[in-house]
Amino acid sequence: MNNPDCIFCKIVAGLIPARKAWEDADVLAFHDIKPVAPVHVLVIPKKHITTLYDATPGDEAVLGRMLGLAPRLARELGAADGFRAIVNTGRVGQQEVQHIHLHVIGGPHPLGRMLARQDS
Ligand code: AMP
Ligand code: ZN
Repeated sequence: MNNPDCIFCKIVAGLIPARKAWEDADVLAFHDIKPVAPVHVLVIPKKHITTLYDATPGDEAVLGRMLGLAPRLARELGAADGFRAIVNTGRVGQQEVQHIHLHVIGGPHPLGRMLARQDS
């Protein structure tokens, strides 16, 4: 396994169950366990990459594939009129799971604002 201490590597290895939405040789997508909207999937590289800071030029192809998959999954899962793609990164980004993941979030209705403005 990529990183035996990583929960998402365990999902890739099949050691922890997940509701998969997509899988190919390099990328896995599965439904978030605590969805914040009717559609909420996580798209991850099968290879362990801790954060976007740790991605190298050699990882750009898989990152591009993840982003390219996002609209396709969104449409298929019921977010056909818009969605949000988010990669929380590091401490300030409040990244909880230390394996890069792209949140794809949407549904039939507009989402709330992405971030509250600090001056209002
Ligand atoms: P982040 O704050 O960007 O690191 O988001 C981590 C996300 O992973 C959260 O939305 C969690 O609900 C989700 N998550 C954590 N463990 C699992 C799991 N075993 N299966 C599916 N989603 C998970
Ligand atoms: Zn991992």
